[in-house]
Amino acid sequence: MVIVAAWADGRPLAFLGCKAEIMTKNRDLSNPALWGDATRLVRGGTERSHHGETSEAMYLNSGFVYPDAETAERRFSGEDDGYVYARYGNPTVSMFEERLRLLEGSESCYGTASGMASVWGALACQVKAGDHIVSARALFGSCFQVLTNILPRFGVKTTLVDGSNLDAWREAITPGTKCVFIETPSNPMLEAIDIAAVAEIAHKAGARVVVDNIFATPVLQKPLTMGADVIVYSGTKHMDGQGRVLGGAIMSTEQFKEEELKPFLRHTGPSLSPFNAWVLLKGLETMKLRVNAQSASALRVAQMLEENAGVKRVLYPFLDSHPQTALCRKQMSAGGTMITFELKGGKADAFRMLKKLEIIDISNNLGDAKSLITHPATTTHRNIGPEARAMMGITDGMCRLSVGLEDVEDLMDDLKAALAR
Ligand SMILES: *Cc1c(COP(=O)(O)O)cnc(C)c1O
Repeated sequence: MVIVAAWADGRPLAFLGCKAEIMTKNRDLSNPALWGDATRLVRGGTERSHHGETSEAMYLNSGFVYPDAETAERRFSGEDDGYVYARYGNPTVSMFEERLRLLEGSESCYGTASGMASVWGALACQVKAGDHIVSARALFGSCFQVLTNILPRFGVKTTLVDGSNLDAWREAITPGTKCVFIETPSNPMLEAIDIAAVAEIAHKAGARVVVDNIFATPVLQKPLTMGADVIVYSGTKHMDGQGRVLGGAIMSTEQFKEEELKPFLRHTGPSLSPFNAWVLLKGLETMKLRVNAQSASALRVAQMLEENAGVKRVLYPFLDSHPQTALCRKQMSAGGTMITFELKGGKADAFRMLKKLEIIDISNNLGDAKSLITHPATTTHRNIGPEARAMMGITDGMCRLSVGLEDVEDLMDDLKAALAR
């Protein structure tokens, strides 16, 4: 058997500047960094208690006790790295962080209360008044609010650019730029950004690259291998994948975590709850299977929609008609679980179709086992206003579909029937 493994010490080899090697035998299987992705997702980070439980234990505690005052002193001084308080860390949260860290191949992972807590934490921890952030303008609604409203209130300057235009990045990134923010593929327009090219421009100017990899998931896209410095996730989406809990995570170097992230997050408090971490740990076990199956269905649904007379246009990274499909195919191993399509008849048509769906639910969540559809202009991207929507290309006839795990024939028939006039 030939196993292609591109990992060493938990970091992608490309990240270390080495070429991926084909390993056939003599792998040290006691080292999780040499496992494949699926094995990492099922077993990575598991720390059994003395009871020997099969599934990871849920430690629902906020505090910790110490055998003596000397131990407490050593914990607080950092000499002893044991737990002190759940805002700082918890064993179930640690297991989730380690499992995801192994999958990503990053030096560190920090769990957070939600995806937005991770976006906010990753950006706010490194900037101060007067600093500058450049971001692609195709953004999730709340990310747009953080960059255009909230950070500027604290004196941080932000510039939004057309993420697909490298000259626009070159122009906007100056030696005063602290970091750049990229969402690829973007929500809901599924625009792709060339991570490696933007990282090169950013690094030349001394700026860090923060990538929101939520739509692609760590299964389909590995931004660290393309030069990203920090990756943010919403655990709420594909990691849980079953609509139960909020959560998030920030992947980075150990140095970034220790020096910038940890002091900021520990004292501001967006901690991941141990219960949510446990649900996410269980979700990770099946994430690769789910994401690959949902992506395969999404491609078929996207192809079907493209043929439908009521549909004006379909955006899906692995459709030949996607303007950046070559880049998408370079950066991602499959097209992902999300499709955006525009109906010929605008909002009225979109609402009529949503009403007729029998299986697919109207919901703004995504990455779920259940297929979910939303009308971004009136929901997720309502708050940003008509001007920003126009800038992002979000029209009133657009629907965003998160393809789930149902039989793909059922999903296609549901959509076809709802689209019939
Ligand atoms: C959902 C989402 C977020 C925020 O995640 P939450 O867990 O809802 O806070 C950020 N970015 C993108 C692209 C998302 O889809």
